[in-house]
Order: sequence, then C-alpha cells, then structure tokens
Amino acid sequence: MFDCHIHTDFSTDCSMNIEEVIKAAKDNNIGTIITEHLDLNFMQPGEFIFNIDEYFNKYINYRNHKLLLGVEMGMRPDCIEENREISEKYNFDFILGSVHVVENNGLYYDIYGDDFYNGKNKKEVYKDYLKYMLQCVKEHDYIDSLSHIDYICRYAPYNDSNIYYEEYNELIDEILKELIYREKAIEINTRRFDNKEAIDILKKIYKRFNELGGKIVTLGSDSHRPENVGKHICLAKEFAKECGLKVVYFKERKPIVLDNKE
Ligand SMILES: [Zn+2]
Ligand SMILES: [Zn+2]
Repeated sequence: MFDCHIHTDFSTDCSMNIEEVIKAAKDNNIGTIITEHLDLNFMQPGEFIFNIDEYFNKYINYRNHKLLLGVEMGMRPDCIEENREISEKYNFDFILGSVHVVENNGLYYDIYGDDFYNGKNKKEVYKDYLKYMLQCVKEHDYIDSLSHIDYICRYAPYNDSNIYYEEYNELIDEILKELIYREKAIEINTRRFDNKEAIDILKKIYKRFNELGGKIVTLGSDSHRPENVGKHICLAKEFAKECGLKVVYFKERKPIVLDNKE
C-alpha cells in the first residue's frame, strides 16, 4: 500500500519531520509519497510555498522505492505556466493537483476562510467551486491526480457540507470526463473517512468515474501529523475496489498498479 499524500515541515502548515514519516510508514508497512504544498500566488505571501531546490537537496538521501518525492500544486489560472515550468524542471515522482482557493469575478477566495461563503447559498457556492475545479483540470494538464474533490466539505459552514452527486451531476460528470480524457487519476482522500455517511455519499462520485471510463485512483491521508500517516488507507482500498477502480501510486510520474497483496 502507498499513502500518496503526506506533508512534512517544508509545508508551511506542517511541523512533521521526515524521520517521523519514515517511522510511521514502517510501523504501518506502507510506502509514502511526500507532497508538499505549493500554492503559488497564495493570498498570504510566503504561505504554502517552499524552496524546491532545498527540498530535493535534503530529501534526495531519503528517496527510495518506498519513499517518493512529489508535490501538491494549487491549481489556479494566474500561474499555469509557472506551475508547468516547475513540473518540468524538477524530477518529482508525483504531482497532485488541488483546489484550495476559488476565483470569482477576478478575486481569489480561500476555501478555508469565511469570505467565499458570504452572501451565497450552498448550491451557488458548490457550483462555483466545481466550475472552477473543471476549469483548473482543463488548464493544468501536467498534474497526475486530482486531489480531494471533497476539500470544500471540510470547511464549508453548513450543517450538511456533503457534495451530493445528484445535485451537481452535470458539473461533476464534466470534471470526471476531463480527467478520463487526459488519463489522469483521481485521489481518494481519507481525511473525512472517520465519517461513514460521508464515505457513502462520496462513493457515488467515484462509481460514476468508473462508469464513465475512469480507471485509476491514488490513495492519500493528507497527513500533517505522524499519527495520521496511512490513516484509513485500507478503507480507501476497499472503497476503490467497490467502485471498480485500480489503486496506483506514481513513480517518476508514471502510474504503478498495486497488486492486491500490497
Ligand atoms: Zn490539499
Ligand atoms: Zn495536502
């Protein structure tokens, strides 16, 4: 098994060091891909970016077949080329594409913050989020896997923050079709896997991915702490199986299928 979404102290919101990841991965008998936050042009200068040369210089000594080096790129239309250059310049094993901010009428809103939700209802907010995600997937063809499609559900201020496939089926289908057309993976992010109901609601989206011709998924805990490394990865593996999807990890930007025993 591979946990393909892990942060360490190169991410500005994380203090876990690489030794802690290595220990936790060994304890759980899994491989890991480090995916540091790189959100270029983030509204708070200096946040969610890191020195990529330093990253490779420091972690090259740790890199092996069970510990791979990736990045979690924040997708946004005003830094497409810059992100592309980074994806070509450095030899990452894996590039996760994420939506952490949403552009609306020329302004960028942090999904984690409050402003994005003001003056709109849930349906409007979620449509804006998914429309923006669709645009990003079309424009960022250098990602390997679309990260946490349900990211907004973590922070949206609603009693029920789930994304119901039925309510947004047209937009979700378009996103999934773009991924399939571009032969990308989609991530099963286990951050909300403590909640059985959330898992079941999410499953419809991944089943639909399979129905439309999607084949591969990456699994990621999005860990920022040692105790979360590999968390719910087995559950995610079962989830993938139920949806008819193959679990892969990426090495040198190529998907590697995990067989059932791994
Ligand atoms: Zn993320
Ligand atoms: Zn992350």
